[in-house]
Amino acid sequence: MHATSFDEFLLSPPIKRAIADCGFEHPSEVQNQCIPQAILGADVICQAKSGMGKTAVFVISTLEQLKEFEDSSVEARLVALVLCHTRELAFQICKEFERFKRHMSNIKVEVFYGGVPIVNDRQVLQKGTPHIVIGTPGRILKLAQEGHLKLTSIKHFILDECDRMLESIEMRQDVQKIFKLTPHEKQVMMFSATLSQEIRPVCKKFMRKPLEIYVTDNSKLTLHGLQQYYVPLHEREKIRTLFDILDAVEFNQVVIFVRSIDRAKMLCNVMNEGNFPAITIHSRLAQPERIALFKQLKDFKKRILVATDLFGRGIDVSKINVVINFDMPDSADSYLHRVGRAGRFGTKGLAISFVSSEEDATVLNNVQSLFAVNIAKMPETIDSTTYMATTQSSE
Ligand code: AMP
Repeated sequence: MHATSFDEFLLSPPIKRAIADCGFEHPSEVQNQCIPQAILGADVICQAKSGMGKTAVFVISTLEQLKEFEDSSVEARLVALVLCHTRELAFQICKEFERFKRHMSNIKVEVFYGGVPIVNDRQVLQKGTPHIVIGTPGRILKLAQEGHLKLTSIKHFILDECDRMLESIEMRQDVQKIFKLTPHEKQVMMFSATLSQEIRPVCKKFMRKPLEIYVTDNSKLTLHGLQQYYVPLHEREKIRTLFDILDAVEFNQVVIFVRSIDRAKMLCNVMNEGNFPAITIHSRLAQPERIALFKQLKDFKKRILVATDLFGRGIDVSKINVVINFDMPDSADSYLHRVGRAGRFGTKGLAISFVSSEEDATVLNNVQSLFAVNIAKMPETIDSTTYMATTQSSE
């Protein structure tokens, strides 16, 4: 049985009010599956398709369990730690916590990530103890090891995009070191749209008897509001074809994915020269600039983003309705994450992939067979009503 209303979760009034402020009418499937047990402190490992509200699962469940701190006489302790793989995602998750805790004025949230001076983080922590910290593993570990971030009172440990975080050896080591600094007794929650058979036992090593939610049928990961096409072409035809597409399709915001930072910079320059006001966000930019550009995108001040896979996962910009794979990703999983930047929360969207080599064709075929989706060759014209209207569904 699924709750049809957030009321059925019996959440506390400030959280219910925040949910209403956000305009959320009904819980999505993943929220239905996880929230009732997560608010009781159960460990959770959860796979659910892109853009269907996983963040709200751990944000709501964590805040609901922090009610005691609403009483200002209760001494502040750091009780919740959320780790994720990119700085922009950490920033975004922090904003989500702020959104849902707006009626819990005593709760403090902070975000810490690399690429900015650590002295600022130390100052923030010296001024007061946050109840919730979000961050990327390197910076969190450093702050913890030097004693500025005290993890001994952690009660909720959350990994977003957990497969990505535990697949990379370097990140996994940092996560393990951080984990070891937290108490034994705690709730652990992990989330991703992609959780391979191989990574599940790795995740479960961090947990005790978790509630396990997997998408057993990969076809269910397909975003049905998303029109998906491919364009066979030569490498040298890519720029002209991209310009033709951008002239022809209607988009609110578009992300164009390329395979390297150099290509991102090159394409962004070419687009600006061609009167397409694009920005690019990649790991070689200074961190304050990265976040400033990200904010501009979120605030709809910029409409065209050229990005590497840095931006492929987790990022939620509701007006992005078109994704173009200028360079095909290197795996079916990356494809799924990238195209999931459009069509958030059941809205419509369009994904177009350039296929210029045998390898590209192989990835495209893998996507089609793994996720049981038919990706047709792009037609001469695409009816804009098929990807522009924003219908919402909660499945
Ligand atoms: P996420 O998958 O966590 O990145 O969420 C995708 C988008 O869906 C975000 O913009 C959320 O604000 C939105 N969202 C999450 N849950 C709901 C809900 N129950 N109703 C409406 N929108 C939602």
